[in-house]
Amino acid sequence: MATRVIPPRILKNIRQNSATTTATAIKSLNPIHPSIISSTTIAQPSLYDEANQKPPSTTVQPPSLNFNDPEKLFSSVSTSKLLRSSAVLHATAIGPMVDIGMWFMKSKIVQTGVLKNLVMSSVKNTFYDNFCAGEDAADAGRSIRWLNDVGLRGMLVYGVEDAHDNEGCDHNVKGFLHTVDVSLSLPHKSVSFVIVKITAICPMKLLERISDLLRWQQKDPSFILPWKEDTLPIFAESSPLYHTQKKPDPLTPEEENDLELANKRLLELCQKCVQANIPLLVDAEHTTVQPAIDYFTYSSAIMHNKGDNPIVFGTIQTYLKDAKERLLLTSKAAEKIGVPMGYKLVRGAYMSLENKIAESLGFASPIHNTIDATHKCFNDCTSFMLEKIANGPGNVVLATHNIESGKLAAAKAHEVGLGKVNHKLEFAQLYGMSEALSFGLSHAGFQVSKYMPFGPVEMVMPYLLRRAEENRGLLAASGFDRQLMRKELGRRFKASVF
Ligand SMILES: Cc1cc2nc3c(=O)[nH]c(=O)nc-3n(C[C@H](O)[C@H](O)[C@H](O)COP(=O)(O)OP(=O)(O)OC[C@H]3O[C@@H](n4cnc5c(N)ncnc54)[C@H](O)[C@@H]3O)c2cc1C
Repeated sequence: MATRVIPPRILKNIRQNSATTTATAIKSLNPIHPSIISSTTIAQPSLYDEANQKPPSTTVQPPSLNFNDPEKLFSSVSTSKLLRSSAVLHATAIGPMVDIGMWFMKSKIVQTGVLKNLVMSSVKNTFYDNFCAGEDAADAGRSIRWLNDVGLRGMLVYGVEDAHDNEGCDHNVKGFLHTVDVSLSLPHKSVSFVIVKITAICPMKLLERISDLLRWQQKDPSFILPWKEDTLPIFAESSPLYHTQKKPDPLTPEEENDLELANKRLLELCQKCVQANIPLLVDAEHTTVQPAIDYFTYSSAIMHNKGDNPIVFGTIQTYLKDAKERLLLTSKAAEKIGVPMGYKLVRGAYMSLENKIAESLGFASPIHNTIDATHKCFNDCTSFMLEKIANGPGNVVLATHNIESGKLAAAKAHEVGLGKVNHKLEFAQLYGMSEALSFGLSHAGFQVSKYMPFGPVEMVMPYLLRRAEENRGLLAASGFDRQLMRKELGRRFKASVF
């Protein structure tokens, strides 16, 4: 029987979120198997729990995501790993502690000397070890092997952030190329994707300039961009163009040269991925530079995605009001020219920055007005992609920690006839987060990857600060995982004592 594992306060919050999301999503999705709808309340028994009836033998069983048995969910996780994860997620849930920690990490006090070494080593043994795959590719390889043993796969992420000049970009692209080599040295298919951040291989200023020029061309189609290669639509009717208020100057010869260098870096990386047959997933960032990122992604996809095998994948941030319209438009255009597209769907991680930029320019935020609208957009885009890939070329990565979205997607995949272990559909969560959802989906037979950044502690610090911010607050999504982990740790403790 199911047990209630979530304290009422957190449960109420999750239920409120779930109830609205499920109701709206189900309305917009095609009808979902009633069992999935009835099992969406977290601590309720799922249809196929031991105590429940078996479905009629004539129907194909929908996937059963069971979160009611933490012992089974965490059976492959050692007690020390579980203890560390639980402690780290609990620490990041204490809002004021995160605020002080973030202030401290960004302050000048920790930039030099003994204090710096002390801080780095404590970050390494806690947050870093929980959220990162290792200091170098060899370490990351070991983490991937462990994941592979427990039925999950890895998305390898060389953990660099923005580059500001060609020297930095050249250095970074070597790291991404090396990541492909490391992937090839690991067990077959244990690395599902190599990740690239375009802001690490093209100077930030140039990405801003290209985005401005693309936006202006969207406002005025007669505006010629001589350097522009074939691409897919980057904007929809509803896309905001407020970042570009006046006609930008054309690229200077020096900028055109830098653009050529950026194109060459991406081309070399794509070619290496084609040779290795490992897909390359391009991360989405903030809207100041996202048009340029989409431009690079789509022009590379046109070049390298063939047959039913997308190599270059883009990312759609469904917290943006124009996300669904853009996804539909781009998919249609790709279909028309016979290019199979792969997309990663996420909610989006730059919310406060987006709000700040829009407000400073005097415009409305590009982000949905309510969290429920974001949930609905994610679930609608998921539904659209699952239907699309069930009936034709294309792939989708559903990158989310949201239990409700996971359940709805699993049900929808079943409904449209997508087999569970299907190379067209991958679920993904960040390494060190949402273990319950990862193992739940994997135990139900889906392909699941963990997004695994690697690199020296100092290099991945901005990533760690984003994770701390994301888990901030007692009502953060990690609450579900924390409760399940606590329950399993309690069970293991009792079992070892009695
Ligand atoms: C494998 C993987 C890859 C990722 N890659 C990227 C990437 O390339 N680019 C990127 O930007 N992000 C990326 N993310 C992060 C992702 O965008 C989310 O920040 C994170 O996963 C939380 O969303 P969720 O789907 O897990 O949903 P939930 O756990 O339900 O989180 C919802 C969160 O959405 C936010 N939110 C969104 N819209 C609203 C709104 N209108 N009002 C209030 N709050 C809102 C809130 O902060 C809320 O906490 C990735 C995540 C994963 C798991």
